[in-house]
Amino acid sequence: FTTEAGLYTASDQVVVLTPDNVDSVLVNSTAALVVEFYASWCGHCIAFSHVWKSLASDIKEWKPAVDLAAIDCANQDNGPICSRFGVRGYPTLKFFHAYSKPDSKGEGFRGFPRNVRDLRRKIIDKMETHAEPWPPACPPLETASRAELDNFFETNSVGHLALLFETSNSYVGRELTLDLLQYENIAVRRVLSTEDGLVAKLNVTDFPSCYLYYPSGIFTRLHVQLEARTFYSYALQRLPGVVRAGKPLPVTSDLAKNTTEDQLRPFNRSRVYMADLESTLHYSLRMELAAHPVIKGEALSALQRYISVLAKYFPGRPVVNNLLKSVDTWLKGEKDTELSYSSLRDALDNTAEVPNAALPEGVRWVGCQGSKPHFRRYPCGMWTLFHVLTVQAEEAADKDPQEVLQVMRSYIHSFFGCQACATHFENMAQESMSHVGTLSSAVLWLWSHHNHVNNRLAGALSEDPHFPKIQWPSPELCPSCHGVKNGEHTWNQEELLTFLRSHFSSEHHLSDYLE
Ligand code: FAD
Repeated sequence: FTTEAGLYTASDQVVVLTPDNVDSVLVNSTAALVVEFYASWCGHCIAFSHVWKSLASDIKEWKPAVDLAAIDCANQDNGPICSRFGVRGYPTLKFFHAYSKPDSKGEGFRGFPRNVRDLRRKIIDKMETHAEPWPPACPPLETASRAELDNFFETNSVGHLALLFETSNSYVGRELTLDLLQYENIAVRRVLSTEDGLVAKLNVTDFPSCYLYYPSGIFTRLHVQLEARTFYSYALQRLPGVVRAGKPLPVTSDLAKNTTEDQLRPFNRSRVYMADLESTLHYSLRMELAAHPVIKGEALSALQRYISVLAKYFPGRPVVNNLLKSVDTWLKGEKDTELSYSSLRDALDNTAEVPNAALPEGVRWVGCQGSKPHFRRYPCGMWTLFHVLTVQAEEAADKDPQEVLQVMRSYIHSFFGCQACATHFENMAQESMSHVGTLSSAVLWLWSHHNHVNNRLAGALSEDPHFPKIQWPSPELCPSCHGVKNGEHTWNQEELLTFLRSHFSSEHHLSDYLE
């Protein structure tokens, strides 16, 4: 009896261990690892897998220093590995130091907590007491003294030093240090409230609070909406000159103007542009679908439903809406079981019979511009289009709460050119799309799953350094969407809904750069 499907997939931030990779992952790694040994049939493990996945996305920035892994001991192929590490009960957690030897069995986490915050703290405790050799990517986690800080810039060439003042039982400073470890040009140190000299010098009265210290000797307080880890992280990651390691420094807009390739159209980052939505339609209908000379079966049904949803909800200019409606009517009248792309193309372009109906040719990316031609553009437009459609369907009080999401799912599955993206999206859809029971939860489903994708792609090669993948919207864009409960970041769903309805609403679309 073999259980093939484990509890984790490639879209989680968890390394899935197998007989083929176990040694290369655990032995001599430059990062420490925490491994969950589980059995996929065990109810506790199924419940715990949600915590492990949330923890993995919560501490994904820590990967170069400490990473999470999991292995399904119910999979027959993995059995010998679980025996080798002496695992008898599930779930078991083991900590493997960086540079572990092949015979290391890892250190057990006895009676480990079952929530993200306490597990994260437990991992920090382990990292702090990590034996030599220390994982090279892990910054110092101990508290900083005044003497160290006085000479800091003599030995460190960063532009910003963030000092997190806190009490000795607080973990925020160490969490923040690890959150920023992949970012260049910034260092974070924790300073205890008992470090009287510094506390007095900066006149620090709040613990925690964060101050920026510059080579010129100037200190300034970091202003955040709430004094909590996530707010500090959002703010520090976006300081000028701070960039994810390995990424080129974003050029300033003045510099960008000097080169044709990098020239960006001026635009407002906090708005949705109709030019992006029309460009997405052009690319989808005239480029992506053209790769399918004959459309039939499941794909034909996906296409019909896509056009029908566009005809119903696309909040476009009258000419575009007229065109979508005429294509929809034509498609509904087609009784053949196969459709040639060329006939669809004729219906899109040959609008002589339908007055005032046309879809502009070509793309003009505005909010979806990338700093290089291979960044952003169409996939950005696709997300934006479907966020707009879920919001439009809610506004129209449509009867079927799943309609737009299911249309997106089938379009992505049948046509989206990035096949790995389509597979990941389908996995997410299978897991939870059918639970969506109201139009507002459809809006929130797409928001939260888009954030899931952002989380997975943060720091990936496809990330435009000018547009880092964040858990969106940022506190600057929607202050009331963010909150803190028991020291942990929370999203305020009511406020989010209000924000999403307004951000994606047709009333707020900008029509600059339209032909
Ligand atoms: P995008 O993620 O494209 O977002 C576009 C805009 O939407 C942002 O600028 C922001 O204004 C807004 N936004 C951001 N987050 C949210 C949110 N949570 N809710 C509402 N609005 C938001 N690329 C891969 O490399 N691997 C994948 O597996 C992958 N899967 C994808 C699956 C789908 C269905 C789609 C449409 C795209 C996928 N992509 C994938 C592409 C990737 O998600 C980005 O679209 C692409 O990298 C461009 O990123 P971007 O910076 O323009 O922001």
